[in-house]
Amino acid sequence: MADIYTLGIDVGSTTSKCLILKNGTEIAASSLIPAGTGTSGPGRALAETLNDAGLKLEELAAVTATGYGRNTFEGADFVVSELSCHALGAAALMPGVRTVIDIGGQDAKVLRVSPAGRLERFLMNDKCAAGTGRFLEVMARVLETDVSQLAEMDEKAKGVVPISSTCTVFAESEVISQLAKNVDIRDLVAGIHASVAVRTAGLARRLGVTAPVGMTGGVARNAGVVRALEKELNAPIAVSPMAQLAGAYGAALYGFKKKEG
Ligand code: ADP
Repeated sequence: MADIYTLGIDVGSTTSKCLILKNGTEIAASSLIPAGTGTSGPGRALAETLNDAGLKLEELAAVTATGYGRNTFEGADFVVSELSCHALGAAALMPGVRTVIDIGGQDAKVLRVSPAGRLERFLMNDKCAAGTGRFLEVMARVLETDVSQLAEMDEKAKGVVPISSTCTVFAESEVISQLAKNVDIRDLVAGIHASVAVRTAGLARRLGVTAPVGMTGGVARNAGVVRALEKELNAPIAVSPMAQLAGAYGAALYGFKKKEG
């Protein structure tokens, strides 16, 4: 039987993610372009992934779009909410996971997933930047660093400078005033991560935390946030190296299941 290739594209607020699955199991290619909805990011992610897989668009059995900007993507066979896609993707990448914490560029979600990877219930914060990737980006800028450096700085922290403001704008002022006091930047980063963890853990507790817990979304790449969240929830958190691609993976899997009937 001929191989079935399905493509998932997750058009995010900050990053475009694209992934092709072969027969619903094997990753043929994937790409991650740090430009989200309304930019050239989705088109570039699509072109790069097809090129890496050595495939043409016509050879795909299904294209499924998900993510914040999914409705702006033209040419999708299916358009699916990122909640369903993250549930599917997380269950495939971290088999057996029951609670999925997804922190992206501008929202945070906690999902309860059935053993088969179906979304059972969820809670989301998409009203406020605090506790999202945006909060970390704002803080990284104030600290003259990049989000990709925060985990390493946190690892070297000797203490935690607490951030008491829950609002991103006030928290930014608080960080600036701490910098003026000459506190150790690494301890400040640990405080920033603890602040994200406290907010996310609150959301998770409201939903109810069922082990095993896993994390998806770009912020899962920040091991400092993952560690702070493990401490806050008093539970280990699984993270796949493909965490940021979980939505695109779930979308490609959705298309495969539809085609397979
Ligand atoms: P969206 O789908 O909204 O674009 P993502 O799930 O792709 O969001 O996550 C984007 C966020 O991931 C960024 O705001 C940033 O905080 C975080 N991030 C991206 N790359 C890295 C990295 N290399 N290390 C740590 N954090 C990262």
